[in-house]
Amino acid sequence: MSQIGFIGLGIMGKPMSRNLLKAGYTLVVYDVVPGPLAELVEAGAARGASCSDTAAQSDVIITMLPDGPEVEAAVLGPGGVLEGARRGSTVVDMSSISPIVAQKVAAACAAKGVEFLDAPVSGGEPKAVDATLAIMAGGKAEVFEKVRPILQKLGSTVTLTGPVGAGNVTKLANQIMVACNIAAMGEALVLATKAGLDPEVVFNAVKGGLAGSTVLSAKAPMVIARNFKPGFRIKLHQKDLRNALLAAESMKVSLPFTALAQQMLMALMNEGKGDLDHSAIVTFIERMAGIEVKKPA
Ligand code: NAD
Repeated sequence: MSQIGFIGLGIMGKPMSRNLLKAGYTLVVYDVVPGPLAELVEAGAARGASCSDTAAQSDVIITMLPDGPEVEAAVLGPGGVLEGARRGSTVVDMSSISPIVAQKVAAACAAKGVEFLDAPVSGGEPKAVDATLAIMAGGKAEVFEKVRPILQKLGSTVTLTGPVGAGNVTKLANQIMVACNIAAMGEALVLATKAGLDPEVVFNAVKGGLAGSTVLSAKAPMVIARNFKPGFRIKLHQKDLRNALLAAESMKVSLPFTALAQQMLMALMNEGKGDLDHSAIVTFIERMAGIEVKKPA
């Protein structure tokens, strides 16, 4: 069984590394924040002293970090993974980052004889806990096959989508559909509420039809209950759409709805809502209509 290094023990990384321990893997863990590191050591993992020390003890090094700059720092920076990683080891970056950064990190890994896969996830904390994440990978087929058994302990669907970077392109496609779906739901529920209808009745009437979606079923009840506890934070979704727009620009692709949703998310961050659930995109549309989506009094 591979020895695994796990770097980044946040909302997602902590339950994911616990699941690898439960599956019987030997784990070395590292995070710049001591709290979650201590929790994982308590659960049976070994404590890495740094990213490079964690990599030096591992065959497969998983990173689960906020964005590209943190991945570059942790893998390429001083004291980073590539200072310690053995030739023939594999870095699996499961963070959601720009595909362009994933390709840059992969090239630096290749120069040191280290394999690289990008393998971002969808599903959020509950699915990280249940090990039912959707994992979308990019890289060489033989590298993917080698780490597939590990990824299957973290997710219920594990798909190779293409070469390095393809995992993050797939994740960005996912994030575009989710954000635009929430924004469209917001406009629909604002209209219905302004017309004097009960938004819950409208939701129940449409959810089984063509407008029904996983996003609608998960997010409409949160909006109607005015519960914006994350879930998936506004500031992380803003970051994903920014990465989508940067990737699109590099390919000369126009994404008008994504740009609009990204601007809404940016405005909400400036209102201090960056740590709310992304269902709070609806509050941007509510403000323009001067009405809140909730059951009539
Ligand atoms: P988080 O901010 O909770 O966790 C990130 C962790 O990385 C933190 O514990 C932080 O201390 C650590 N870290 C940062 N820089 C480091 C470094 N240089 N070395 C070591 N550790 C470092 O983020 P999260 O919610 O766990 O998300 C991680 C990734 O997964 C993001 O790219 C996010 O977009 C993606 N994602 C999150 C969710 C979700 O619902 N939270 C869902 C799907 C995908």
